[in-house]
Amino acid sequence: MLEVKTGRLLAAWPPQKAARAEAAPGSVFKLVTACAALEEGVTRLARRIECRNVFPLERRSLWCSRSGGHGLMNIREALAHSCNIHFYALGLRLGRDRLLKWSRLFGLGRTTGYSPPGESPGSLPDRAFHPVDVARLAIGQGASFRVTPLQMARLAALVASEGRFLSLPGAGKARQLMRRPVHSVSTWRVLKSGMRLAVERGTAKKAAVAGLAVAGKTGSPERAGSPDERDGWFVGFAPADKPAVAIAVYIARGHGGDNAAPVARKMLEAWKGMR
Ligand SMILES: [Zn+2]
Repeated sequence: MLEVKTGRLLAAWPPQKAARAEAAPGSVFKLVTACAALEEGVTRLARRIECRNVFPLERRSLWCSRSGGHGLMNIREALAHSCNIHFYALGLRLGRDRLLKWSRLFGLGRTTGYSPPGESPGSLPDRAFHPVDVARLAIGQGASFRVTPLQMARLAALVASEGRFLSLPGAGKARQLMRRPVHSVSTWRVLKSGMRLAVERGTAKKAAVAGLAVAGKTGSPERAGSPDERDGWFVGFAPADKPAVAIAVYIARGHGGDNAAPVARKMLEAWKGMR
C-alpha cells in the first residue's frame, strides 16, 4: 500500500515477497494497453468493439472469459468487465513496439527502488513477433512477462495521480517515471472511470467497501510454468475521486476477482478505520 501524494510505502507484507514475487500481470496490464491505445490514437472512448467470445487470429482461436461474449463495449466498459477480445484488437493496432514502450513508461522491467537489496526488476517479453504473441501481450500474458507486487502498486499510484506520481522518496533521479508522456487528462479519466466501474459492477466487485469509493482492476493470469493454474491480482486506489492510497494484492495460485479483491477490501477497510 502506497501513499499516492508522497509515494511513501505504508505497508508491505511479506516485505520480501512484495519485492521479489514475480508473475505475469494478466488483465491488470489492460490499463497499460488502454493508456497506450488512447494516447497513440488507435482508439477513443466513443468506439465500441464487439466481443463474441472468440477471436480468430492466424488460424488460431483466442478467447474471452465470458462464454457468449460481452457484446459491444467501449474501452471503459471493456476495462470494467475485463473483455479480452477488446484488448486483443487494441493490441494488434498498437503492435509490439508501442506496447513495450508503454510498459517501460509504467516502470515495468526495472526495480522500483523501494525495497532492500535483492528486489526483482521483473521482465518484459523478449519474444512477441507473431500476432498471437502481440495479442496475448496486450492482455498481460507472455512467456517471459513478469512483474512484482511493488511494480503493480506503483502502476496503481501512477493512474491514481494521473501521472503526477513521478519519483519515489530516496530513490533518486533514475527512478523517475512518466515525464508527462501522457498528454491528455481524458486518458487518465477513462482509466480511472473504468476502474471505478469495475468495482461498482464489474470484475472487482468484491473489493467494494461500504462508505468508501474504490477503483480497481483484477487479473488472473496463467501461472508461469503451469498454464492450468492461475495467479490472482488486484490493483486499485481509494477514495476513487480523490486518491489517497494505492494498493496491489498478489495471490499465488489464486483468482483476481474472487481471492485478491476481498483482501484489498479488508486492507481498505482497515485503512478507512485509521483515517
Ligand atoms: Zn469479451
